[in-house]
Amino acid sequence: MEIYKFLGKEFKCPYCGKIHKIGVKKIESGNIDCLPDFISKIIGKNKKILILADNITYRVAGEKIENILGKIWHVKSIILNPEGEKRVTAQEKYLSKIEGKIEDEKIIITVGTGTITDLGKIAADRFNIPVICFPTAASMNAYTSPVAAYIKNGMKLTIPVKSAEAIFMDFDVIKDAPVDLTKAGFADSLSKGYANADWKISSMITGENFCFLPFEIMSKAEKKYVDKGKNILKKDGEIIGYLMEGLNIGGISMSIAGKSSPVSGAEHLISHFLDMYAHLNGKENFSWHGLQVGIGILFSSFVYEHLQNLNKKDMEMMFRATKIDYESKIENIEKNFLKGKPILKKEFEKKIKSLELLRERFPSLWDGIKDEVRKFIHPYSEIRNFLKNAECPLSFKEIGVSEELGYNSILSARYIRDRLTILDIADELGIIEKIASEFMEE
Ligand SMILES: [Zn+2]
Ligand SMILES: [Zn+2]
Repeated sequence: MEIYKFLGKEFKCPYCGKIHKIGVKKIESGNIDCLPDFISKIIGKNKKILILADNITYRVAGEKIENILGKIWHVKSIILNPEGEKRVTAQEKYLSKIEGKIEDEKIIITVGTGTITDLGKIAADRFNIPVICFPTAASMNAYTSPVAAYIKNGMKLTIPVKSAEAIFMDFDVIKDAPVDLTKAGFADSLSKGYANADWKISSMITGENFCFLPFEIMSKAEKKYVDKGKNILKKDGEIIGYLMEGLNIGGISMSIAGKSSPVSGAEHLISHFLDMYAHLNGKENFSWHGLQVGIGILFSSFVYEHLQNLNKKDMEMMFRATKIDYESKIENIEKNFLKGKPILKKEFEKKIKSLELLRERFPSLWDGIKDEVRKFIHPYSEIRNFLKNAECPLSFKEIGVSEELGYNSILSARYIRDRLTILDIADELGIIEKIASEFMEE
């Protein structure tokens, strides 16, 4: 299905029959000097523009954009500087800074990657003004997505926001981004198979809506770059262009689904947990979002591979033999890793009903689930190779996470969201500790 003709529109889905809507209206690429033409198609001449950047992205492109647009519009820039950390991350404290400076500007242009894009989208949503994204790296999928992730009171939240109105990409800028950022985008984009598998299982257990269209359009895009990790390292413009397309389609997929499920499953929960740990313990984030997600992907894949050998009878027995005291687990996680902040219980309680359904329905659905899941995921050895070719970290150790913390992040991650994932299944079957230990030794 040719998805670009539906930008900014509603359409009837050929897969699920429902009406989907894509928030983003325009995606274009060209030289940065063409930006005024692009902007004038979206807003009138007398409008005021706010540019949002951080200390790094302002230098990379923000200052130039300020100069170019300043010839035509009234432009004000907000340049965020890191406070108590080495680089600006998506936190509530920066939002109040941005919101304090918004006056009567009619549009925000974000110049940056995940942090700046998400902060800009949240602020714009609160002020009900549109956003245009100018990406400085192919590092994640927020440019086109209708959600934003940030840390509030120690909890990593993913909240619904209005999608950006438009994206303008200058591939000379995107291609020249630090290679770790592009690697992060590459790894982040590979979550789609595992996220869709989690989502599909959840729909079979709980009856929530599932649609195949996001997977269809994302895997079509992925084929053009998934085995080209080496080209990513060489900053090959053509392949980075394909990667950027894959990421943008990932964001659009969230618009189609109306939630982040098509791109965010167990692998993202592990990364989010690491961010929460770092934040609450006064440490820098361990690595870029996508590189953390890459390790989560490997673990998801490892679990899916393990489950293949089990049959219905095994599962019935295992569920019966496993009793979990959620309350004391949550207390221990909060005490040992989250500075005792009581933030998990309220979110996790929303999942209890799904977990009851899981125990009741999973064994008899398992054969069907196995067939479904196979459509979505790459085998463990294959996904590991894709990540390895792009020199993405393959273990917690490589991103400075101790063995103890890595192991416990795997065990704790399911408690931060009500989303049903493969982590819940492995834990309810009583095998997550064993699989996590084996994974740590890989
Ligand atoms: Zn659909
Ligand atoms: Zn992600």
